[in-house]
Amino acid sequence: MPPAQPGLFPQTLPGMIDQIDNYRREFEEALASASTSADLKDLRTRYLGKKGHVTVILKDLRGLPPEEKRAVGKHINDLKTHVEARIQERSGELEHSGTGKKSGTFDTTLPGRREPIGSLHPVTQVMEEITRVFVSLGFDVAEGPEIESDYYNFEALNIPQDHPARDMQDTFYIGDRVLRTHTSPVQIHVMEKQQPPVRIIAPGKVYRCDSDISHTPMFHQIEGLMVDEGVSFSDLKGVMNLFVHQVFGPDTGVRFRPSFFPFTSPSAEVDIQCVICGGDGCRVCSRTGWIEILGCGMVDPAVFGFVDYDPEKWTGFAFGLGMERIAMLKYGINDIRLFFENDLRFLQQF
Ligand SMILES: [Zn+2]
Repeated sequence: MPPAQPGLFPQTLPGMIDQIDNYRREFEEALASASTSADLKDLRTRYLGKKGHVTVILKDLRGLPPEEKRAVGKHINDLKTHVEARIQERSGELEHSGTGKKSGTFDTTLPGRREPIGSLHPVTQVMEEITRVFVSLGFDVAEGPEIESDYYNFEALNIPQDHPARDMQDTFYIGDRVLRTHTSPVQIHVMEKQQPPVRIIAPGKVYRCDSDISHTPMFHQIEGLMVDEGVSFSDLKGVMNLFVHQVFGPDTGVRFRPSFFPFTSPSAEVDIQCVICGGDGCRVCSRTGWIEILGCGMVDPAVFGFVDYDPEKWTGFAFGLGMERIAMLKYGINDIRLFFENDLRFLQQF
């Protein structure tokens, strides 16, 4: 049957009841095909609006005798309640399924969604802090390749083919190249390009075939090199002391122990007073009260030979330290692997 028109309401009681039932059926069909909140709004207007079906019938009721008025009135009020309830119900469903976007109702006063703000990785933080200390002493930052030739990683650092020191480093080989095992090759690159005075630090990634609670296959080092006329071991000690006191606090004890590296002579390892027990002795420092943090020494004249520096004129010192180790001591972290597991619960603490 054709859709009923408002205002053309039949004037007999059964006809009125039938018409109201027809409206209810039509409404249900229209509701089933309503897919947006705009559709629902139209539907509401068509039935409950000023000229809607329900409103018009309610007006027409005025002319009816009291008994008929009651009968039709109940029927039409039921329809009204039904229409309201069903539209509300459908509106909830649409909103829930995300298709109920109301056109033209974008609220520009709502605050925007914030992206969570990340933070710097603890190793990056330590690296930046140490870099700041040396830059404040007049050192420049230098960089070099992570894939190196044997010459730069070993040979020019006074570690020839048959040198036992090669066994100290578990090297990753890529064909005839190596992943650098230390940041020391940067020294050679810099000295090849530049005559003294040289004052550089070289922070970066290094690689060794090793993995346990205190070793990872990739870790970070900072290399330092200073070459000038008259540079002595006491300059080295002064710079290392200053560095330790800036990073670990002015009261931290420092000691130098004789050691060996192929590219420095004399060589030393630097210990600091245990940051955990303050020097009394604990598990971390193996009850000695001291913890080793870096290696250093006076540049071996043989290394100067590879870069054509006159060892009679120039002297210098070099040092290298592991960033993860410094970060572990500084923040009391007991497993180096935590730095690379990317667990946000760990990283968010820094
Ligand atoms: Zn200790």
